[in-house]
Amino acid sequence: MEIGVIAVGGFAVNCYVVYEKGRGIVIDPGADAKTILAFTEQQGLEIEAIINTHGHFDHIGANGAIKNAFDAPLYIHWEDEPCLKDAKRNLSVWAGLEAMVSPPADYLLSGGEVLEVAGLRVEVLHTPGHSPGSICLSLGGVLFTGDTLFAGSVGRTDFPGASGEKLMDSLHNVIMPLPLETVVYPGHGPASRLEAEMKHNPFLRC
Ligand SMILES: [Zn+2]
Ligand SMILES: [Zn+2]
Repeated sequence: MEIGVIAVGGFAVNCYVVYEKGRGIVIDPGADAKTILAFTEQQGLEIEAIINTHGHFDHIGANGAIKNAFDAPLYIHWEDEPCLKDAKRNLSVWAGLEAMVSPPADYLLSGGEVLEVAGLRVEVLHTPGHSPGSICLSLGGVLFTGDTLFAGSVGRTDFPGASGEKLMDSLHNVIMPLPLETVVYPGHGPASRLEAEMKHNPFLRC
């Protein structure tokens, strides 16, 4: 399994392309579709799924372009699905940007699923807090955490629908029980390891 990291858009969202043997998935194509497509073309990839870790505008902005390029199905947690078509809920209006919407989802997730896509086995963990439908994706010892967990920090909980209490519950009861050697790939900023976060991230210390 290989992982391409492409920082996209004004908020530097990490768009991840996870692939193996010419097939792959795209996590959070937030913006800059051309850059993402240049990468998939360079690697000769067929993209078989698009998964949003949550519905904020900075993570969904290039859903349409990637979907059109590959006719790939779009996955999102049902509680963040309204963000796809509502520029207030996806915060693009809040950010002072042009109202942004995404094509509708093809599959709604609720957490606990194991998706078999592009030859990969992707486990979906529901980790509400930053948004009601935030998810983390676990595959091959790697955890894509969206805006739930960053290296040294966590996602904001001052947006409508966010909950600091739920975020702490997600961190302590869903993420922290994972193996310490888990590699963490967040929605913004550098990668980390769970062990390092449990030592140094103030939100993961009891
Ligand atoms: Zn967010
Ligand atoms: Zn974000």
